[in-house]
Amino acid sequence: MKESITVGLALTALLFALTWLHAGESAPANQEEPPAPAVTAAAPAPAEEAAPVGARDEEITLRVLIDGAVETMTMAEYLPCVVQGEMLPSFETAALSAQAVAERTYILYQIRSGGKPRHPQADVCDDPGCCSAYLSQAEAKAKWGDQYEVLAQRVRDAVAATDGVVALYDNQPIMAVFHSSSGGTTARCADVWAADLPYLVSVESPEGADTVPNYYSVKTLSEADFRATFTAAHPEADFSGDWLGSPVADASGRVGSLTVGGVTVTGAEMRRLYGLRSTAFTVAREGESVTFRVTGYGHGVGMSQYGANELARQGKTWQEILQWYYTGITLGGYTNP
Ligand SMILES: [Zn+2]
Repeated sequence: MKESITVGLALTALLFALTWLHAGESAPANQEEPPAPAVTAAAPAPAEEAAPVGARDEEITLRVLIDGAVETMTMAEYLPCVVQGEMLPSFETAALSAQAVAERTYILYQIRSGGKPRHPQADVCDDPGCCSAYLSQAEAKAKWGDQYEVLAQRVRDAVAATDGVVALYDNQPIMAVFHSSSGGTTARCADVWAADLPYLVSVESPEGADTVPNYYSVKTLSEADFRATFTAAHPEADFSGDWLGSPVADASGRVGSLTVGGVTVTGAEMRRLYGLRSTAFTVAREGESVTFRVTGYGHGVGMSQYGANELARQGKTWQEILQWYYTGITLGGYTNP
């Protein structure tokens, strides 16, 4: 994998140097459960002796694990399938383009970080709980019927408009995670995962109940079921007395921590234990029940996909959308496999 990219770069560096300089200058200046972040440190930045060049999507070969089998394809073939797997093809073009850059960047970040231990034989897989949702052209055709040609072309065009462009921080591909919708603000990486990354901080996100399906959701359990679930994870919990505390908000307003039966757990653990759509929730005992009221969908870190669509509706470009959600990034070519 790395060798194939290196060879591609060596052969085309000169040809595309000017193209990518231009791309860098012209850039002004986002699963169900999106991939968990790789925490491996990125390799050090290369020496700055050469002009920045980048690989085009057709020059990068990927090993993609699909339905358990490894398929080899180019980034140009892969990206439309994950953009249409992760976003509705009817989304604004700028949002689709922003998604393409996020997907391209994330996979390059993943390769640079040594790949995923779950599938060492492939660079990326089709499991949205691990990598990104993948909708093949054949699946898209079956799903969209008469609309396939139009919608698939929209996606291809949106991807092609970003050919080779990567989101960079300190000249390295960023961990370009994304989520479906946030509850007004995105989450800071450090509040969700172990890593504290300077480009994944909390920012405002404009989407709301008027544009996002199931933006608000409610989950109600019997007290007995609530306790059983919690006790399975924390047998020391004591449910005598006033056992349900009030959520403590993190910097983005999501639940940072909550004390249940004398045991303090994170909002992320509560989300995982009870299958909540996000950590932006309230919880209350109501009679013999416990009710969660939840806002948004996903881990909340990085680009909000519905937020990207809303920003695009407001006229923002894909470059501006990416720079909205990934703080302090630049956009340029992929130079250091
Ligand atoms: Zn995977």
